[in-house]
Amino acid sequence: MSSSRDSHAREHHGPNPTTLRLRAVRFRYEDSAWSLSISDLQLGSERITCIVGPNGSGKSTLLRIAAGILPAGEGSVSLNGCSVDGMSRRTIARVVGYLPQESPAFFDYAVEAVVGMGRYAHTRGIGIMTDRDTRAVNHALAAVNMTAFRGRPLSHLSGGERRRALIASVLAQEPGILLLDEPTAALDPHHAVAVMRLLSDFEGDGPSVVAVTHDINLAALFSERMLLLVDGRIRVDGTPADVVRPDVMQEAYGEDVMVREHPETGGPIVVARRWPVAGTPRP
Ligand code: ADP
Ligand code: MG
Repeated sequence: MSSSRDSHAREHHGPNPTTLRLRAVRFRYEDSAWSLSISDLQLGSERITCIVGPNGSGKSTLLRIAAGILPAGEGSVSLNGCSVDGMSRRTIARVVGYLPQESPAFFDYAVEAVVGMGRYAHTRGIGIMTDRDTRAVNHALAAVNMTAFRGRPLSHLSGGERRRALIASVLAQEPGILLLDEPTAALDPHHAVAVMRLLSDFEGDGPSVVAVTHDINLAALFSERMLLLVDGRIRVDGTPADVVRPDVMQEAYGEDVMVREHPETGGPIVVARRWPVAGTPRP
């Protein structure tokens, strides 16, 4: 099912984008029968790749392995061709930004401080911020429209605002590749679209993005490449049109979704069904 992504290689990111490659990964959690198996997956050559798949299909696990947080089992993860084994977290963090699905609770810290923490891989010591660090923080806050909230503690924000502040902290890191686990969860439609637009359209040497999302429609609208994960395996690796197809969606999500055309782009979108079969009476 996997297909070559070479035709989608970006030009605007220059000839040497930051790439992550997972090979022969076979990962199991302790005492668990479930496994993630990835034979060969390269990430980072497209502006934005979205990973979709049912709950429990292994999306977060895949991202944790790519970020170097979980071991690859028997397999390997390489960053720009070098194995991440033995690389320090700080070395990896200079080029790989990772936003977990559940973020650590920095509740007492102000937004600005949390975004500043994104600079840790670059700063020489805790709390020593150069002009360059300050500029990165300001730029990241502006990108997610959170400048006005900079002085507020995280605990005084809505769920969506907190999410945006945390996205700013990985942007401030200025990585070559961003791995984001459900960045638009808890965001209203306006902010979800704004975040996807931002993530899909970094200029010049901006990072490439790999985002896990349940919002198949946002993924289909914005991504260059989509991966569908089912039960720890990559079921489809292709364009939105390869993934958002009636047969594929039905296989992954059952009878509860239909595929239609986006009224503006003509691209595929999914529509939830109220009843399992259209036209049948209410059960
Ligand atoms: P997704 O992000 O697609 O919802 P996950 O990667 O979180 O899926 O989980 C994949 C599978 O691994 C699920 O069956 C889940 O229950 C299991 N799992 C996730 N985290 C752990 C863990 N820390 N220990 C044991 N099993 C886990
Ligand atoms: Mg998850």
